[in-house]
Amino acid sequence: MVDWLKKYPPDSIIRRAYQLACRAHEKEHRKDGKPYITHVLAVAKLTDGLGLDENSVAAALLHDTIENSGITLDNVKEKFGEETAFLVDGLTKLKKINPLKNPTEIQAENMRKFLIAISGDLRVVLIKMMDRLDNMQSLQNLSPEQQKRISWETMEIYAPLAYRLGMQKLSGELEDLAFPYLYPLEYHWLLKEIKEKYKERVEYIEKIKPTVEQILNQHNLYPIEIDARAKRYASLYKKLLRYDMDISKIYDLVALRIVVKTIDECYAVLGVIHSQWPPLPGRFKDYIARPKPNGYKSLHTTVFCVDNKITEFQIKTEEIHRENELGIAAWWVYHRLKDQSKSIKNWDLFAQPQELRWVEQLRQWQTNFEKPTDFLESLKADFFKDRIFVLTPENEIIDLPDGSTPIDFAYRIHTDIGNQCIGAKANNKIVPLEYQLRSGDIIEIIIQPNKKPSPRWLEFVKTSKAKEQIREATKGKILKQKTSVLCLKIKIISDNRPNYLKTIANLFVKRKINLFRFNSQTDHQKFLTTTVIECEPMPQAKIQKIIFEIKKISGTKEIGYKFEKQSF
Ligand code: MN
Repeated sequence: MVDWLKKYPPDSIIRRAYQLACRAHEKEHRKDGKPYITHVLAVAKLTDGLGLDENSVAAALLHDTIENSGITLDNVKEKFGEETAFLVDGLTKLKKINPLKNPTEIQAENMRKFLIAISGDLRVVLIKMMDRLDNMQSLQNLSPEQQKRISWETMEIYAPLAYRLGMQKLSGELEDLAFPYLYPLEYHWLLKEIKEKYKERVEYIEKIKPTVEQILNQHNLYPIEIDARAKRYASLYKKLLRYDMDISKIYDLVALRIVVKTIDECYAVLGVIHSQWPPLPGRFKDYIARPKPNGYKSLHTTVFCVDNKITEFQIKTEEIHRENELGIAAWWVYHRLKDQSKSIKNWDLFAQPQELRWVEQLRQWQTNFEKPTDFLESLKADFFKDRIFVLTPENEIIDLPDGSTPIDFAYRIHTDIGNQCIGAKANNKIVPLEYQLRSGDIIEIIIQPNKKPSPRWLEFVKTSKAKEQIREATKGKILKQKTSVLCLKIKIISDNRPNYLKTIANLFVKRKINLFRFNSQTDHQKFLTTTVIECEPMPQAKIQKIIFEIKKISGTKEIGYKFEKQSF
């Protein structure tokens, strides 16, 4: 038995899962002739290495058992409990929609299912990534066709997903493994071109290392680690495409990484470096104060170093370094350790903190598009690109694509806020509606009731949601006199409580009921709130259910409803 398994007791679910996996894969072999269990063990070891819980490691061991042998999901549930079975089920489902049949034409439908599955439980995605990593590492034994297809999926789906989850190292590894199969000519060109340059840079960094260390020591700074960090091939190639293939313009081909104990020391090291060697203007990036959208933190600076050579420094703490590499997995482990006793069953994403909002958003997005291709378009535009994070005055984090404006922000909060928007403040100062939001801005929207959006906004808004709503609202203008529809009007009187309206609104959103209007007013003493909701008509039974749900919400005093003809 492999060593790392021995740290778990023989009757633990991990060891028992291992026994079952051995039996299930007894007669199976990988393409290179090795027993199949070696793959399963590799995936389990990687999962263990991420620091995930025992159920996850057991699920990793069992991830290929369901189809390949007589073992059923019920067997797994019986032997290892509901949670492990839930994870194994997720992994089995993911396998069914993979592999994508035609790499040039994305199978959007499969992709959609895939994404729904991932939002069920993040651990399933993490284990799946480890499975993919091991598959990529043993790709050499497959046919060229399979190699290309699997590499394409890895490059287009898994690596960006890992990046988005903040798993920097994994994302880079996956890209580097896929790159030679996808772009063999480019890969060989790159190898040939950078070999000398790369060697020269590493030698230079090794040469200046003692000097840097000495200077830091003189200032009472004792780094835990100073080492050369080479840029990965795949990302180097992408960067070269942007720099006319001119390798001399890539300053971070090999960077010097300095790891210290505290954040204060990071800035102290930066100060020492800048006082010693002049920095290149515009190259200093403080990703500690303003992390990248995927959570990456570090101080980056480029200076004219020893012998006047342009050199990049990356400065971070040990903890940050770990977070950068593990991303969401580190976050997950942290929360698990913090609250060991709390059950982690059924990851309800609606109840999850900000960090996981985007996963829930993904799940919502895919229900908002009729054509699979539309969904993919939007996925590419909105999901895989850089995003910014801004705050509401209540400090709620709103995640938007780069280049978004206050109008995009307003529509993200609520359609009515968007429609009635007449102005905006960023960090307490009035800004134009075209203002490009920046990460960290606190945005406040000024509204005027009954105001209608302007078609001019379409020229500068960024998000598809805003565009859709503006078109919708301006179209409504023309139809206004003609249309009169039956609507259901619900009136609620409640205590004036925080989050009450949000709870009510969520009730309608979750049931996908079309809201026409949503108005609320609080009396002068601020005790009671009157809310009037106008929505699409629905059957009595459904109305009764909703009324019942609303009555259950604490704070509800009175509720009534009627049907009314309403013109829009
Ligand atoms: Mn597998």
